[in-house]
Amino acid sequence: MNASTSGPRPSALLPASVLGLLGARGPMTRAELAAELRVSSASITQVGKDLMARGMVLELGQLASGGGRPARPLSLAGSAGRIVGVKVTASHLAVVAAKLDGEAQLARTVPFDVGRPDALDLAARSLQEILKEVDGPVLGVGVALPGSVDSLESGVADSPTIGWRNAQVGAVLRQRLGVPVLVENDVNALTVAEQVYGVGRRYSTYLVVTIGRGIGCGIVIGGEVFRGAGGGAGEIGHLPAQADGPPCPYGHSGCLESLIGSAGLVRRARELGFLGTGEFAGGGDAEFDAVRALAARAATDPAVADGVFGWAGGLLGSALAGTVNLLNPETVVILGEGVAQWALWEPAFEERFRSKLMASRRSVPYLVEAWDEDKWALGAAALVIASSFDKEGATGYQGELVRERLSIVASNRVKAGA
Ligand SMILES: [Zn+2]
Repeated sequence: MNASTSGPRPSALLPASVLGLLGARGPMTRAELAAELRVSSASITQVGKDLMARGMVLELGQLASGGGRPARPLSLAGSAGRIVGVKVTASHLAVVAAKLDGEAQLARTVPFDVGRPDALDLAARSLQEILKEVDGPVLGVGVALPGSVDSLESGVADSPTIGWRNAQVGAVLRQRLGVPVLVENDVNALTVAEQVYGVGRRYSTYLVVTIGRGIGCGIVIGGEVFRGAGGGAGEIGHLPAQADGPPCPYGHSGCLESLIGSAGLVRRARELGFLGTGEFAGGGDAEFDAVRALAARAATDPAVADGVFGWAGGLLGSALAGTVNLLNPETVVILGEGVAQWALWEPAFEERFRSKLMASRRSVPYLVEAWDEDKWALGAAALVIASSFDKEGATGYQGELVRERLSIVASNRVKAGA
């Protein structure tokens, strides 16, 4: 393949990145924004103009400058509202309210029985209570869950992981909460957060890989999240990794996730006799406890380190090398609960990953990010800020509602002289 590269092109989310950066750093000149976001000053000038026209950004007075052209820094028009994110898991809801720069203002964990027929009603009730605590106008709520979601706007979810079929997540929550609601696959939501607040500031084609209970992959191509035809792209966890093996919820055997997701690691450790049969029995969080205990044993027992974590690192390395060979990204970001044990995965991962990459991309870098539980919910919140600059219309009417709210909040602040 003869791919010509012409440098990263600005993402459709550039305006969201500008807002995020101004929120995080305070007022900045256009030149500073262009340098930080690695785009041309012409792009920043255009984005600044659009944001000012919509009342989201102000131009501050001229800075005293030591000669040369005076610079007028741009500033957020007040703290223009709050974004709320919810991550749905089988056992709880993690909820975060954040400022536009992604800084969390409030974080709550609510126990949640995902299997109840009225689960969505219960979720709505919990969220209604939490929304009352948010200090500032809520622009919208982003919801992230494992599985596939038809579109962010309608929010119909299918998730074998939590047992939801055709769940009307968007419709129910929207009606009950009275605010715009956007629903997305959890890994895609994290990927959007990377676009707005993370590596998306430096790269336009990259992969966001999660390790933990599930093994997932968000794909960004030319600054856009690639969702696939039905919103289900990036299921790296269902790459066949072994001819035979434990079953996955879709009925395959030997899928990457059933092998090296947290349940797979525990299964492997039992097979090798590193965990007793009754030790850490039960699903859910017992899996994570078991993985932590295994990591502690691996620190002093190389058989556990190689047999469980090194084995997993090698399988992940093969799968990711294949994916990088296929998609030719500039970089790969690795995050999720599993990065806590990354030091144990890494030697075998590194070896297998490099050895299976095509020569031309053997030096592709990967970054392992520090992880904390709030990140899933912050990823969901990022859906809200990103939706306000959705040029493709993927967020539809809900995105329009967010834009409307953002403009109202911003123009109120302007009138109030903020
Ligand atoms: Zn599978």
